[in-house]
Amino acid sequence: MISYITRYTNLSSKRFLLHPKPQKNELLSSWLVRIALAHHTMPWSFMNMHFPEYQNIVFSRDVDIWAPESFVDKLAWKSGFSSEDIFTMTLRSYEGYLLERVRLNGPNFFISPIIPRKRRNLGYGQKYCPFCLQEDPAYFRKEWRLSFYTVCLEHKIHLLDRCQNCGLPVTAYKFKREQGFVQCYGCGWNLSKEGNLTIASDEELARVSRLMKILEKGYVLIGGKPVYSIAFFQGLHQIIKIVKHFGLAEPDNIDGILGKAENIIFNLQTEMKKLLLQHRICPSHLTQDMEYIPFYFWQVEITM
Ligand SMILES: [Zn+2]
Ligand SMILES: [Zn+2]
Repeated sequence: MISYITRYTNLSSKRFLLHPKPQKNELLSSWLVRIALAHHTMPWSFMNMHFPEYQNIVFSRDVDIWAPESFVDKLAWKSGFSSEDIFTMTLRSYEGYLLERVRLNGPNFFISPIIPRKRRNLGYGQKYCPFCLQEDPAYFRKEWRLSFYTVCLEHKIHLLDRCQNCGLPVTAYKFKREQGFVQCYGCGWNLSKEGNLTIASDEELARVSRLMKILEKGYVLIGGKPVYSIAFFQGLHQIIKIVKHFGLAEPDNIDGILGKAENIIFNLQTEMKKLLLQHRICPSHLTQDMEYIPFYFWQVEITM
């Protein structure tokens, strides 16, 4: 029986009684919900009782980005896991690898926004794989918030970003009855049900796998030279803007856009020359509005 507490007990100085182990690549929000459910308490109430200093704050923000150091440290003390283990579950752990700074109010390129408002999410940034959610324990993966992570590498299907029954975005800390957080809070649909799924192509699977490897290793070879992952993703983001702006791929097809952009970045010299000849692209488009210009971009400009 899950308790819907209206009068809060202050448990600020108490440790958690139960501490479910963080799963591989689990998102912090997912783990927090699982801890609350282990204590038979609704996540929102549970957080208010244990963190009265953050009354109604934890889930009213994108906690996977927000989680300040003091919150992470207190979670570590309450759960017995290290602050490092807990920080790894946040999207801020991508800082320095995917992008320079992960901001609470974005935009954060390659991280999809969830837009929390009035105790629910309005953004479709929390993707999921129904088959992964059938596993025990069910949990949400960190990479499901990455915009380029469009397919499940294990189950080889396209990820979903909404309830298949009513179309609402995923709000993991909110659910209707007792089936837990893999349930749509709006209609009760179990998100782990297969419904209508589409098979991912080999090309899409290979691309997502390649991009994840770059992120995990922290570097990639471009033209035989090592490039830090952060510089690679900064460059990829810029090329994606060019692909979108000049209509080099279908506008709503994220996989098509990524595929085109990835091909350009790995063959920058030849592809940029082609673009200069075939489209109204100037060398300056390559670096326009960029805060940091990766060195491999400068090398292209010099040779053109
Ligand atoms: Zn899966
Ligand atoms: Zn629904």
